[in-house]
Amino acid sequence: MTLVYQSTRDANNTTTASRAILQGLATDGGLFTPISYPQVELDFAKLKDASYQEVAKLILSAFLDDFTDQELDDCIAHAYDNKFDTPNIAPLIKLDGQYNLELFHGSTIAFKDMALSILPHLLTTAAKKHGLENKIVILTATSGDTGKAAMAGFADVPGTEIIVFYPKDGVSKVQELQMTTQTGDNTHVVAIEGNFDDAQTNVKQMFNNAVLRKKLAEHKLQFSSANSMNIGRLVPQIVYYVYAYAQLVKTDQIRAGEAVNFSVPTGNFGNILAAYYAKRIGLPVGKLICASNENNVLTDFFKTHIYDKKRCFKVTSSPSMDILVSSNLERLIFHLLGNNAEKTAELMTNLKKYGQYELTNFDSEMLALFAAEYATEVETAAEIKRVYETSNYIEDPHTAVASAVYQKYRTKTGDDTKTVVVSTASPYKFPVVAVEAVTGQTGLSDFEALAQLHNLTGVSIPAAVDGIETAEVRHKMIVAADQMQAAVEKDLGL
Ligand SMILES: *Cc1c(COP(=O)(O)O)cnc(C)c1O
Repeated sequence: MTLVYQSTRDANNTTTASRAILQGLATDGGLFTPISYPQVELDFAKLKDASYQEVAKLILSAFLDDFTDQELDDCIAHAYDNKFDTPNIAPLIKLDGQYNLELFHGSTIAFKDMALSILPHLLTTAAKKHGLENKIVILTATSGDTGKAAMAGFADVPGTEIIVFYPKDGVSKVQELQMTTQTGDNTHVVAIEGNFDDAQTNVKQMFNNAVLRKKLAEHKLQFSSANSMNIGRLVPQIVYYVYAYAQLVKTDQIRAGEAVNFSVPTGNFGNILAAYYAKRIGLPVGKLICASNENNVLTDFFKTHIYDKKRCFKVTSSPSMDILVSSNLERLIFHLLGNNAEKTAELMTNLKKYGQYELTNFDSEMLALFAAEYATEVETAAEIKRVYETSNYIEDPHTAVASAVYQKYRTKTGDDTKTVVVSTASPYKFPVVAVEAVTGQTGLSDFEALAQLHNLTGVSIPAAVDGIETAEVRHKMIVAADQMQAAVEKDLGL
């Protein structure tokens, strides 16, 4: 039987995996979400020796079950190849008192590559499967990393165009250059005067704009999303949780069946939700630790069950987590309410209307799987230094948030279950913060810091940032947040 993906806001809006990937976001504004879980045999005696690609095949064929074996094999082979700088794809590193799962070995040195290297292939495969003739337009709001990773995945993929919006002052210099120097005739990058939430809200509005959709169709175009709202982003992220667990078994750190905690630096709630799905198919997960930076709306939510976005937006050293509206939380809310679309839609309406909602009558056992804490800017920098001193290893600021929060959690609860800190970016992506935290030096440029980081770690400068300072800037458009649709129409010649 084919797995059903249902909109979180309408019980009658159901579809299959490949169609959900094509559509991106449901037209009712909801997110396509599995309403039951596939049977997956997680036999770690076997999985401990499986390659990343083999684990990917196991998970993808279970969740994306209307793709053929051949289609998935092709997608996996195109995605997890030598774009990654290590054959392990996602190495697990043992540090003092924790394990760091490095998800930053792809082309943009951040974890978005894990899913965005496969999404273009899933999307074009799904289009072919369904005889779609329209060109697919990927519309993406990014807080820094998604945009670049999506463009790296989609650049010059036939039958696609990609338009990326980022907050002009909300990303690091390296992140900005990574985007504005992007090559590929089908790539478009637009800076907006506003923050990530402005960008994301306007992108969502464009998706739900029936007039705009009609106009696109007249030009043989249709939108899809590379944001983590797309189920084609979420499912490939389940893979590395299973893979990491298998590595722990393989290296005798745990017995098969022993629970493991994951501390996840969280923004849009996609990464940690994938861990939740891994748990649902039988991965022995203890706690899912939801780690936030000073934009701690999720910490408050898990503690009070009230989601309240009416607060100051802070620009922090972990910009990919500078988010006040965590889109993927809607999927967990839906599950917490017993897959109730009507109630979920009501809460999302409250969020839009009043800037908040309160979760009531939920599955408290499910919610108790999660622990939540946040790390301040000072705590994050201190954690980078602590880990360097104890393990001679430099974490990027996002990873350091998860690492600091894990330390807090452990101190507070005494829970000494083995814990994996999900490491979402290379320190080379945020070199100034990393070097400043370790050495106390201030006023370094990004490029001076890159060289310093190399001296401190001995790790060579990744190709993703090497030479970026002098690369040609190809994208220079800046618009007001309310002019995003006009920019799209211009880019597409509508
Ligand atoms: C996107 C991102 C996150 C947040 O992940 P979500 O799935 O949005 O919660 C954390 N760290 C880095 C480096 C990222 O790029």
